[in-house]
Formats: sequence, structure tokens, C-alpha cells
Amino acid sequence: MEDRIYISKPHMNGEEELYIKKAITTNWITTKGHFIDEFESLMEKYIGANKRTVALNSGTSALHMALILIGVSEGDEVLCQTSSFAATVNPILYLKAVPVFIDSEEDTWNMCPDFLEEALIDRIKKGKRPKAIVVVDSYGMPAKWNKLLEISKRYNIPVIEDAAEALGSSYKKQKCGTLGHLGIYSFNGNKIITTSSGGMLICNNEREQKNAIMYASQAKDLDNSNKHVDIGYNYRMSNILGAMGVAQFRTLEKRVEQRRKNNTYYQKTLNKDVFKLQQETGNDFFSNFWLSCVTIVGKDFERVKSNIIELFQLENIEYRNLWFPLHKQPFLEDPIYYGNGFADDLFKRGFCLPSSSNLTDSELYRVSAVLDKCLL
Ligand SMILES: *Cc1c(COP(=O)(O)O)cnc(C)c1O
Repeated sequence: MEDRIYISKPHMNGEEELYIKKAITTNWITTKGHFIDEFESLMEKYIGANKRTVALNSGTSALHMALILIGVSEGDEVLCQTSSFAATVNPILYLKAVPVFIDSEEDTWNMCPDFLEEALIDRIKKGKRPKAIVVVDSYGMPAKWNKLLEISKRYNIPVIEDAAEALGSSYKKQKCGTLGHLGIYSFNGNKIITTSSGGMLICNNEREQKNAIMYASQAKDLDNSNKHVDIGYNYRMSNILGAMGVAQFRTLEKRVEQRRKNNTYYQKTLNKDVFKLQQETGNDFFSNFWLSCVTIVGKDFERVKSNIIELFQLENIEYRNLWFPLHKQPFLEDPIYYGNGFADDLFKRGFCLPSSSNLTDSELYRVSAVLDKCLL
């Protein structure tokens, strides 16, 4: 059987070992050290917009920190995109806050501004003014930020940008991750660059940055008194992983190029009567195309999809659906939701194509050949 083709696998550039070794030989291996600082400042320079960063042990913990900085606590409502990974909503639940799920729109597959506003009006009418809005740049595609931020401003409710998948993407030339009031990245193994596991919080100033570092370090008072000002967390990134981040950062732009090249290939080769790729709708949107994703058009989508699943298995190609809507997840009881079922439709009709930055031309060819065959 031919080698397995994965949706998104780690991509080493060969320098990781060197940097990690340096962390080890200098004996700076825990949650303080040169590489953490360097990784943070490299990222700050890259994303611009005068932001400050905090390297953490995962994207999920970065979201948790973002909610804490905004002051979300038990019983607060938080508006949250329903078409996403469970990690988008879990930190809301850690805080015993209440997620209110918002559907996506058809252009970007991200939070629909109309349903966001409908939800805001309704929640406020019910006396439940939401504390925050969590927007995702799904699969790397920037959301409709002009509209979403206009609404956030008008209702004076801050936005957390879950840009876990969107490092290297931008909206109107501004980097994803910096568009909301707070943002996060993930460096999990399947993301565009990886520290094996890891994440980053993007905040606006030194005060927020210090506060996040404090909460991520057991909320230990910075005056060295060994007092703890609150319940804290152990969420800082280790210097070993910081070293890996510095190494991986060096090829970030190349990874964006490679993933975009995959997407261009799929755009050229996929049968447009059957497959509709997630697309940049105009020049404002620049996606890193972390994953190239498609939906199957037409009435016959169920048959086409089951063919694809079967053929992918036969050809040793990993298959994955688009996100199962969070408001339908079995672990949530009676979730509140505003929408018209578009996220459900994405799940039913959609799937992810192999999108690794280290996909070879012949692997891309294998995938597109299978996608041709499934129509027969
Ligand atoms: C990967 C991911 C996360 C979580 O990141 P981890 O580093 O795995 O904790 C959060 N949100 C989205 C949309 C993701 O894809």
C-alpha cells in the first residue's frame, strides 16, 4: 500500500534539534529562558499592530487566559462561533460561563454578523448582556472583521480572536490574531508551525501581558512575596518548546506559501460542478489555507461523500469532516443558538483535504485522482 497521506502533519525544517539542544546544554529547560523571550519578540515583530505576546503551553490555555483577562466569570454569557473545534468553547465552560452559539455565514464560513447582532439584541433584551464574543478564523480564513468589529464596538463588547489556525493569515493587510481585543495562536503538531504543543496569547499592552504571565504562573504576586493574588494556572511555555518555536518561526512564511500552493492546486483540479472550496471573497481576505476545505454541492452530496470516505480509506488517505457544530455536541445541555443551520450544512456537506505543507506533488495528484474517481 502507498504511504499514508495525512490532513496536516508536522513539518520540521531541520533546525529544531539545534535550538532545543541549546536550551538543554545551557540548562534553561523550564518556563523561563532566552528562547521564550525570543519567540515572543519574533512573533511581536511579525504580527505588528503594537501587540504584546505571552507564550503558553497550548492554544486552549491561551483562550482560557483571554477570558480571564476580560473578566468572564460564572454565569456570564459569552457569544461563540458554533462551527469550530471543542477547544473554542471549553475554556468558557471551565469558567462556568454560558456559551451562546452563533452560526456562520456562507462567504468565510465564520461568525455571521447578522446572527451575532440578532443574538446581542435578544440577550440584552433578556437582561443577559454578553461579556465577550469569541470569533474563529476557521481553517485559516479571516472572518468578516469589518462588520464583526463594528458590532462589537457599537455594543461595547470585546472580541477574542481564536486565530489558532490562522497564523500568517490577514484581513485588510492586518494579521489575524491581532484583529480582536485579544487573540490566540496554537502551535499544536497539526498547526502551520508547531512547538509540539503550545500556544500564544496576543494582548494590547504591557499591563495585560504582565497580568497574563501572572495568571499563567499560579497567579503569584510579582513582588516576590510568595503570595498568590487569585486562583492561578500553570500555563507557561517551557524554554525547550520556546526553542522549537524560534526554529519553526524561521520557515513560517514558507509554510504559508506551501499551504497556499496546495490550495491553488485544488482550485485548479477539482470539479467545480461538485466541489466548492472555502475561498477568499475579495482582496481583503488573505488565508494561510492551513486546511483546504470543500463542500459538496447538489442534491447527491451524501452519495458522493460516502464514495469519498470509502475511496480515501482504500487509497490510504486520511479523511476528516468539517467541524461538527458545537451547539450540537452531546456534552452540552440545552445550548443557546442563533442561526439558520448553515454550520450543520457545512458539517454534512463538507470535508478537509490533505493540506500539509510537506505534501509532495505526487501526493497532491493522488488526492485529486481519487476526487475525480468518486464522481463515477
Ligand atoms: C487547535 C485549535 C485550538 C486549540 O489549540 P491547542 O494548542 O490544541 O490547545 C483552539 N481553537 C481552534 C479553532 C483550533 O483549531
